[in-house]
Amino acid sequence: MRMSKAFIPTLRDNPAEADTVSHQLLVRAGFIRKSAAGLYHYLPLGMRVLSKIENIVREEMDAADCQELLMPIVQPAELWMETGRWHVYGDEMFRIQDRHDRSFCLGPTHEEMITDLVRNEVTSYRQLPLRLYQIQNKYRDERRPRFGLIRGREFVMKDMYSFDRDPAGLDESYQAMYQAYTNVFRRCGLNCRPVEADGGAIGGSATHEFMALADIGEATIVYCDSCDYAANVEIAPCPKDDTKIDAAPLAMEKVSTPNSKTIEDVAAFLKVDAKQCIKTLFFQADEELICVLMRGDYEVNDVKVQKVHPCYTLEMAEEEAVAKAVGCSFGSLGPVGLKDIKIYADYSVENMVNLVCGANEEAYHFINVNPGRDFQVEGYYDLRTLNEGEPCPKCGGVTKYARGIEVGQVFKLGTKYSEALNASYLDENGKSNIIHMGCYGIGVSRTLAATVEQNNDENGIIWPKNIAPYHVVVVPISAKDEEQMAIAENIYKQLQAQGLEVVLDDRNERPGVKFKDADLIGYPVRITVGKKAVSDNIVEYKLRTAQENEELTVEETITRAVAYIKE
Ligand code: ATP
Ligand code: MG
Repeated sequence: MRMSKAFIPTLRDNPAEADTVSHQLLVRAGFIRKSAAGLYHYLPLGMRVLSKIENIVREEMDAADCQELLMPIVQPAELWMETGRWHVYGDEMFRIQDRHDRSFCLGPTHEEMITDLVRNEVTSYRQLPLRLYQIQNKYRDERRPRFGLIRGREFVMKDMYSFDRDPAGLDESYQAMYQAYTNVFRRCGLNCRPVEADGGAIGGSATHEFMALADIGEATIVYCDSCDYAANVEIAPCPKDDTKIDAAPLAMEKVSTPNSKTIEDVAAFLKVDAKQCIKTLFFQADEELICVLMRGDYEVNDVKVQKVHPCYTLEMAEEEAVAKAVGCSFGSLGPVGLKDIKIYADYSVENMVNLVCGANEEAYHFINVNPGRDFQVEGYYDLRTLNEGEPCPKCGGVTKYARGIEVGQVFKLGTKYSEALNASYLDENGKSNIIHMGCYGIGVSRTLAATVEQNNDENGIIWPKNIAPYHVVVVPISAKDEEQMAIAENIYKQLQAQGLEVVLDDRNERPGVKFKDADLIGYPVRITVGKKAVSDNIVEYKLRTAQENEELTVEETITRAVAYIKE
């Protein structure tokens, strides 16, 4: 491609709203443009990278006996009602109506659609196993679209669905996908790690997320120093401390705690440890207000709360709603005397003796409160977030935190959807059985952004070779110099003839401008043609990852570039 004809609108400055390095660089280097919140154009360079990632995904899927198909984006509401997810998906779902007032959604995912397809076509064990996938735009009206392609409202996903006769077959499909995902992300040049995860709205039993390690990652990963344990912090189990405190319960007392709203304030005012206080938190679980108790020095984990109290949406309650129900605002809340509100307590509260909690009266707390005697709970559960440094749930080693961008997830669904939609087959004996399903997603556009997040420097993007938009840029120092241009053209054509993807920067620009764009765009190889090329057949060869140029003959340069890209 000739730069003079290309549509690569690079920018000198970072766009004001771009909130991460990958977002800034992808806009500045002319890969994407924003249309509206969470909606992006892929410009020609962005489109090239996207296609390359898609092709890697296709190769790995096809190698694992998956077959590509394409389902409609517009999905009938009735199917989602059959599984009950029309309501579960809530505000994240883009809903539309046709001219006859029939309801549809823009697909956020396709479990319902594919199960419907398969239940109508598959009848016999001979047709199983089946692994079917598509690569397509998905639609989710995210509460906070951000980070460019990382959290869009329209994004490209590869979604694969496996259909097996039994759990053993599903295990095999799951393993095959786990391996295929590992291959995909390695080939994309991502530093990625599979972690144990939560099923969320999709449901099912075993699931792993593939996390691209990055500081801007929205997920926290807990991993172990000494073994291979790694999990999303949402599900990492916390140890239950069974040590009984040897203290006699004292009589509960109400004390004045002026200007003490946080646990720290109250602990300091009463001269006790934060471990002696409990946090009383209220959540809005759909229409219901629920209460969660946690030892003062621990953090509550919403995913665990939602497991114990199943609901469609769980959010921290608004202060007004709590004040209305309890008669007291944040800062002095507690479980004593709470009526008609379910109370769930973390294990850490169970053995506390003579604890401190809010009195449900502004600026008052109770001291010497004892669980069981002074308040009752639904039960004690693991409801907190594992802290960095606590013992590994698997081996007891020391845990650490890392941040990750979820680029893929694999799920064993089991029979959740096949049962709801009645997808079954007849076995060898003519007996009807429910199909066992798995589903497997890759955020293709998110993978593109995550790769940039991991591969860049102060000058721009550093594309891994396999997914670079072009392999080589050839830069004549002076496009006006006919001899230089002739040599540059020659190199350009020879590299193309050897199968490389090449850009010829034939623009009538200063060399500094061309070098800046080359670094910003991030081509793996740059070949510069200047005066020495004309006088001595010598050009400059530079890898995007290297600090220095090398001077090589034209022939050597071509050999080196081809070898580097194809190795
Ligand atoms: P998240 O927790 O980040 O919202 P998710 O768990 O809801 O993602 P899945 O339903 O597992 O996502 O979708 C499969 C893959 O699609 C994810 O692993 C992720 O890479 C990608 N993905 C999900 N939501 C978005 C989005 N809003 N923008 C871009 N990619 C996304
Ligand atoms: Mg997920």
